[in-house]
Amino acid sequence: MKIKNFGHNVAFTPRHFYCPQTEAEVLEILNNHKNGQVRVAGGLHAWSRAIISDDAFLDVSGLSQIKLEKDNEGTCVIVGGGTKLETLVKVLAKQNFAIPAMGGIMQQTVGGLASTATHGTGRSSFSHYIQSVRVAAYDADGNAKIYEFENGDELLAARTALGCMGVILSLKIPCIPRYWLTESSKVSQTLDEVLAGETEWPLQQTAIIPYSWKFLVFRRKIGEAQSFWGRLRSRLMRVSSYFITEITPHLILKSILLLPWNRTATVQYYKNIMPLLLRESTVTNQDYKGLTLHTRHHYTFRHVEMEVFIPEHNFKPAFSVVRQITEWFAGITSELDPVLVQDLEKAGLLQEVQAAKGSYTLHYIMFIRKVMPDDSLIGMTANQKTRYALGFFTYHRNSARQGYWDFTKTMAKILNRLFDARLHWGKHFPLEHQDIARLYPDMEKFKNICQKVDQKGVFQNEYTRKVFGLES
Ligand SMILES: Cc1cc2nc3c(=O)[nH]c(=O)nc-3n(C[C@H](O)[C@H](O)[C@H](O)COP(=O)(O)OP(=O)(O)OC[C@H]3O[C@@H](n4cnc5c(N)ncnc54)[C@H](O)[C@@H]3O)c2cc1C
Repeated sequence: MKIKNFGHNVAFTPRHFYCPQTEAEVLEILNNHKNGQVRVAGGLHAWSRAIISDDAFLDVSGLSQIKLEKDNEGTCVIVGGGTKLETLVKVLAKQNFAIPAMGGIMQQTVGGLASTATHGTGRSSFSHYIQSVRVAAYDADGNAKIYEFENGDELLAARTALGCMGVILSLKIPCIPRYWLTESSKVSQTLDEVLAGETEWPLQQTAIIPYSWKFLVFRRKIGEAQSFWGRLRSRLMRVSSYFITEITPHLILKSILLLPWNRTATVQYYKNIMPLLLRESTVTNQDYKGLTLHTRHHYTFRHVEMEVFIPEHNFKPAFSVVRQITEWFAGITSELDPVLVQDLEKAGLLQEVQAAKGSYTLHYIMFIRKVMPDDSLIGMTANQKTRYALGFFTYHRNSARQGYWDFTKTMAKILNRLFDARLHWGKHFPLEHQDIARLYPDMEKFKNICQKVDQKGVFQNEYTRKVFGLES
């Protein structure tokens, strides 16, 4: 059975495909593959190669219980690892609860969210809030066993483990009361203006229009409960926004990409036309509806993203470099800033950048989100640093993505070497262990914990071995 991820950039055929319905069945599968390889399917929305298994591949959508519990801290939910996020948030919403953090879509599973530290904006990632994790892995004799990690380094490791600590059977996270989210879109001319808005709008996220370098800020904060008429207005705005913000711009972009002179057209579109289309408006929605408004029916517009996490203090200089390098690749600037030239030379990247002049035109807006620190060992914001996440997308079909692969590889290296950027584990990941190891002080601790529950490396694959620097 051939498996393809959302972006169609990862495809593989595992030798064995299972759909266990109980924990006992998971243990049996692990025992049968104790000398092989085991990986788990979530919603197949990761773009990195984390998902691949040549041997056993488990669809754990049967493990999808949802149970609310009250303790001294409040209400929490114990949720099966194969539960789709959309199912979870809708069940919780009926009880007037929400989860503390989620990203821009709801098609992932809970196990997938946890495995790659899926995040939204203005808060820590989903992983940070996990209070305990139940996994199926191996004991010291190599027999399958269930572990429940509730504290200590094991819990911190299991909060973001890329599937390397075993099969997530269930996890526990706190519930928060449902809330209303007010979003005001605002066009800004400078990054300073964008960042200044964070104090009042802590949940904001920002689209950067390339080549015109204007910003459309989706300023967000917790809002007031809406009356019947307010709710009706929000609903109508969601419908119109679906066409104006989601469908129309993507259709225009797809049409531009079909043109023979699409690179020039792309630059002209973002420079001269899109700024005229930007509209400012305010709407208040309930939590998950507001957080996911613009990504419904996203299968129509398949894409790939690489997301870099830049430490807060480096973000402004890094952004200036992103702008220069993007224009350099697009061939619309003929000279790089002399200071950048020196920095690239020191970082051993000057020749690579010089050779790339005019080789690729980035054709999609970039996104800025602010991600607060995670209490985990290897999450993208682990180790107490707030980071700005910056996403680079392609909407080309898979066979036409070579320019994007080259562009993102060079961009990732530049941002990694000059600004200590980390990459999202679940998105396109063009860096190697030697690039990233220095940025994860707890990586060795993480690897040791993985080894304790998986001495033979059954849960590792080519991707995890590459990024963790393990021998194949
Ligand atoms: C359109 C789109 C929008 C996105 N938006 C965001 C966003 O806003 N923020 C963000 O941070 N990310 C975002 N992502 C990335 C996505 O959230 C992550 O890649 C996430 O890991 C995908 O979850 P999934 O359930 O699809 O997992 P999969 O892609 O199926 O798997 C991801 C990894 O988790 C492992 N895994 C899954 N379930 C289990 C389990 N039960 N036990 C052990 N390991 C498991 C898999 O083996 C694999 O290594 C987006 C992706 C897409 C395609």
